Amino acid sequence: MTKYITVIGLEVHAELKTKSKAFCSCSTEFGGAPNTHICPVCLGMPGALPVLNEQVVEFAIRAGLALNCDIKYFNKFDRKNYFYPDLSKNYQISQFDKPICLNGYIDVDVDGVEKRIGITRIHMEEDAGKLVHSGGNISTSDFSAVDYNRAGVPLIEIVSEPDMRSAEEARAYLENLKAILEYTDVCDCKMQEGSLRCDANISLMPEGATEFGTRAEVKNLNSFRALVRAIEYEVERQKEILENGGRVIQETRTWDDANGKTLSMRSKEEAHDYRYFSEPDLVPVELDDAWVERIRAELPELPAQRQARLIAELGLPKYDASIIVSNKAMAEYFDEAVKTTKDAKGIANWLLGDVSAYLNNEGITISEFKVAPAHLAELVNLTKEGVLSSKLAKKVFAEMLKGDKSPKILVRELGLEQVSDEGAIMKLVEEILAENPQSVADFKAGKERAIGFLVGQIMKKSKGKANPTMVQAMLKEKMQ
Ligand SMILES: [Zn+2]
Repeated sequence: MTKYITVIGLEVHAELKTKSKAFCSCSTEFGGAPNTHICPVCLGMPGALPVLNEQVVEFAIRAGLALNCDIKYFNKFDRKNYFYPDLSKNYQISQFDKPICLNGYIDVDVDGVEKRIGITRIHMEEDAGKLVHSGGNISTSDFSAVDYNRAGVPLIEIVSEPDMRSAEEARAYLENLKAILEYTDVCDCKMQEGSLRCDANISLMPEGATEFGTRAEVKNLNSFRALVRAIEYEVERQKEILENGGRVIQETRTWDDANGKTLSMRSKEEAHDYRYFSEPDLVPVELDDAWVERIRAELPELPAQRQARLIAELGLPKYDASIIVSNKAMAEYFDEAVKTTKDAKGIANWLLGDVSAYLNNEGITISEFKVAPAHLAELVNLTKEGVLSSKLAKKVFAEMLKGDKSPKILVRELGLEQVSDEGAIMKLVEEILAENPQSVADFKAGKERAIGFLVGQIMKKSKGKANPTMVQAMLKEKMQ
C-alpha cells in the first residue's frame, strides 16, 4: 500500500482592531443594528472615493515585523472582481502582486520537535458584508437579507507556505499566530465572532513524490477543533479516492461542523478568474524607514521571548511556560501573580490545573476570572508556608470562586489552618495508635502499608487539618 504525506497550508484572515473602516470613517464596531455603519464609500456608490486609513498600514507593518517578514516599502492595492450579494461594489479592494509583507515565519513546537513554518505573504484588504438567511441556511431559506456593516472593515490575510504535515502542526501554527496577533494588539482574535478566520489547503502526495498533489481548500473553520477535525476528515477522504485509483479535484469545500464532514461548494477559481487590476482610486503605499523603524522599536514582548523569560528567570518548565504564554491574558495574570510570591511553579500549577478547569467549565476566559492574581499568590504562599495542606487549599480556592476574598481571611473564617503544633499532633497519634492495635502489629511485622491507613485515620480525625508530613514522621517515630 502506498503511504501518503499530508501537505497543509493555511490562509488566515484577521480583522484589524481599528476604530473606523479601511477606506471610510464608518465604525467597525461588532453587532450594531443591520446597515447602520455604512456610507456611499463602503457600499461602493458611483463616484464615491476611498481614502486609506493610516492605522490599517500601521497594524499590517506591526504584524509583519512580529511575524519576521520583509516589509515592502512600495506596495499597492488592487481590485479583485467577483459578484456576490454581500459585496455591493462587485469588487474587493485587496493587494495582489505587491503586498505589504513577504517571506516571514513562525517557529512551532509539536511534541518537543521544533519546526519553522514559512509565511509567504501578508496583504491588506477589506471585508465583505454578511448574508442573513431567513431559514437555517441558504438552501432552506425563502429569502436572505444583507447586512453591510462589516463591508469595508480592514483585514490582513496571512498566507502560510504549505509547510505543515499534520493536523497537530497546523493547530500549533494557528495557536502561535493567534498569540502573536493578540500580543501585538492588532486583532482581538475572537474566532466565534469571526474576527479571526482560517481556511486550510489540504492535499496528499505519495511518499517519495516530488510534486504536491491536487489540493482542496476547506473554508468555515471557526475553532481549533474544527481545524483539526476538518484536516483529519479531508486526509481520509482524499486517501480513499487515491487508493481507489481516482483523482482529487481542485475545489473549495466547506466544513459542516454538526456532521463532521467537508462538503463541496464550488470548483476552485484561479487568480485570473478575478481579473485583478491596480485600484485606480488609491495611490500606491510608500513607507519610509522612520515609520517602520519606529514600529519595530515599539514592538511588545512576543510570546517566544516571554516563554524564554519565564524559563530563564523564573525556572518554569518549558511545557508550563508554553501554555501560559499562548494566551496573552493568562500570561499577564501570571506576571501579576508572581509579583507577590516566589513560587512561580505554584502559580503555574494552579493556572494549568484548577483555574483552567474552572474556566473551561464555566465557558469563560481568564479576563473574566474574578479571583485577583494577588489572592491566588497568597493561596500559593499559604500552602508553601505549611498553613494549608494542598487538599485544604482546594477547599479555600472553591470559596474564593464564590466571591474574591483574601485566602488568609477565608482560612480564619472557615477555621482551616493546618495544625502543625507538635503537641496537638502527638495527641492524635497516640489516640489512633491506641484504637488500632492490629495496624500497629502489622507495621511492626514489616507491612509498610499499614502506616498509610493510620495516616488516613489521623487526617480524618483532624478534619484534614493535621500537617501530613508531621503526622507521617511522628507515627513512624512512635511505632519504632
Ligand atoms: Zn463607510
